[in-house]
Amino acid sequence: MKISNLYQQKKPVISFEIFPPKSTAPVETVYQTLEGLIKLNPGFISVTYGAGGSNRDRTKEIASTIKNKYKVEALAHLTCVGQTVDEINQILKGLQEENIENVLALRGDPPADAQGYDFSDSDFKYASDLVRHIKNSGDYCVAAAAYPEGHIHCRRLSDDLHWLKYKVEQGVDFLITQLYYDNRVFYNFLENARRVNINCPVIPGIMPVLNAKQIKRIISLCGASMPAKLLIMVDKFGDNPEDMEKAGLEYASNQVQDLLDNGVDGVHLYTMNKPQHITEILKNVGKA
Ligand code: FAD
Repeated sequence: MKISNLYQQKKPVISFEIFPPKSTAPVETVYQTLEGLIKLNPGFISVTYGAGGSNRDRTKEIASTIKNKYKVEALAHLTCVGQTVDEINQILKGLQEENIENVLALRGDPPADAQGYDFSDSDFKYASDLVRHIKNSGDYCVAAAAYPEGHIHCRRLSDDLHWLKYKVEQGVDFLITQLYYDNRVFYNFLENARRVNINCPVIPGIMPVLNAKQIKRIISLCGASMPAKLLIMVDKFGDNPEDMEKAGLEYASNQVQDLLDNGVDGVHLYTMNKPQHITEILKNVGKA
């Protein structure tokens, strides 16, 4: 089933993101995670795609297990940076063979050690090129990324919104946002998106803060801002892992509850492969 149909049938759609285990760990380690998540009856589960070539085959393998063994819709992430058209076609063929019809089309980031990477050398320069290519390759439901606070490398928010609209016009069926920690940022972004006629579902992505080190690392990588409330929380509980985790789960639960109260089409939870935390959040909001 195409995930875009889910958003038409049922609201809100609760969905999860997982990542493949490191290549040094057996792929089976993720199945315990999956079993914990599947009990929560998600609309779909997305599987990240390793940048720089790591774990790439595992995305297909895990997405296929979600779809064909657990009978839950799978959304396979796919990045195009540094990939040729032939390579992308091979991956799409592999997904098709596993009955996976939902793809999250991303540009991806160059390898961390590639200073001054030149995107213009690539067959695909932006995610919009990949969206168009996938749509022309078959009957896929295509999702893409959106950045409520702007992509970390964008110079102006208005440019980012302009390119997002262009990307959607290439055939995006729904958008999932990068994590953010203040719902006002999401509501404002949604208003701006609707104003420029981005009319597909825009799904907020929520990542619970579980420890002080993690939040600093994530924020420095993706450029999301830290609202005062969160800063105060990290200052208060950061040195006490147990209290910090409890406060982080409560913070995420409040974010999700507020989104549900405001009639969002869905919520996508970045699970970090921790079903127990996601279970707690969903219990807090009456969805488990
Ligand atoms: P794009 O949509 O191409 O945008 C990148 C930047 O280029 C933006 O600033 C945009 O404004 C600008 N831009 C776009 N088009 C043009 C144009 N024509 N001219 C000029 N500027 C333009 N990474 C992974 O490696 N694996 C994953 O599984 C993964 N999953 C993700 C899931 C979500 C929900 C999100 C939000 C991000 C994910 N990422 C993942 C990270 C993502 O790959 C990076 O954020 C990457 O830097 C941008 O990818 P994009 O698809 O948003 O790029």
